[in-house]
Amino acid sequence: MGDLRLVDYRPVRRLRVTEHRIERPRFPVVDAHNHLGPEFSGGWDERPIPELLAALDEAGVATIVDLDVEQRAGLAERIARYGRQHPTRFVHFTGLAYDEWAERPDFGALEAQRLEDAAGMGARGVKVWKPLGLRARDPQGHVVAVDDERLDPFWAAAARLGLPVVVHIADPMAFFDPLDERNERWEELHEHPDWHFWPSRAGAGEAAGAEASEAGFPAFDEILAAFDRVIGRHPGTTFIGAHVGCAAEDLALVSSMLDRHPNYHVDISARMAELGRQPYSARAFFLRYADRILFGTDLGYDPEMYRLHYRFLETMDESFDYSTEEVPPQGRWQIHGLGLPDDVLRKVYADNARRLILDR
Ligand SMILES: [Zn+2]
Repeated sequence: MGDLRLVDYRPVRRLRVTEHRIERPRFPVVDAHNHLGPEFSGGWDERPIPELLAALDEAGVATIVDLDVEQRAGLAERIARYGRQHPTRFVHFTGLAYDEWAERPDFGALEAQRLEDAAGMGARGVKVWKPLGLRARDPQGHVVAVDDERLDPFWAAAARLGLPVVVHIADPMAFFDPLDERNERWEELHEHPDWHFWPSRAGAGEAAGAEASEAGFPAFDEILAAFDRVIGRHPGTTFIGAHVGCAAEDLALVSSMLDRHPNYHVDISARMAELGRQPYSARAFFLRYADRILFGTDLGYDPEMYRLHYRFLETMDESFDYSTEEVPPQGRWQIHGLGLPDDVLRKVYADNARRLILDR
């Protein structure tokens, strides 16, 4: 027996169990986390809009929330191309200019002003992304923490303007671990080395003394704790934690944040793999927080991709692939359906997004 290389391994599932194919969702869905720009739309930005609308119709998707964090000219162009033509199908969020903070001691006030301008242009919310807490630096060269008080004017502006904030500030926990044979996202991190937040700041500090601690990345728990403090400090701001609050591996942590902060919500985008490998915990989570969870995908506009989500949420199918790719991109495991009841599906598929984003 020779050694088999991981890259060549293609196990075929030999399980004989009931299978369902869900062509269309039980209720029309709002995809509260997707992208229409060149970087994350999977090429759809270059295809004609009628083709996109046809794909959405085929998949039973009523509305897309575009989180491409464009500002000014980019935002105006995006709204002109999609949202103005089809206001019930597309809404757009704006973002922050992390690269400019190193030149601007007043970056929080600056972002508050920009948010107000974006709202005037038609932005329906704002997306805060991973540079915050991991890479964006202040004029002194320090990484700006997620709960840095200099950003308080920005969070307050979102509350004043009535704009929800989608926050994606951490990643799968394994992205913060060493990349060795024990890392459950080994293949994915080899594919995307820039998603690896290692070495950790704690490790670097220990190795070279406190002076060197800025050299590494903050630990996962440190980032989530800072996020928790910001949500508590701004009770008037509507927060939506992207990717199951950036902590899909730890639903107890997400639940604790939802319990303590009525202004906090989460979307499920790009976390079907995580939720589907803990179906008992995930089902209880959906039932308990049905009013606080938003459907989202973050994965382009392939109708088959949407159908997998419907199968996951609506059926109790066992051990099926969470992706249409040959090798599952987020880890080599399969998922189990949650079989959610209609009242929960209705809220998660659309009602919560309508209340928090579309109808305000
Ligand atoms: Zn996204």
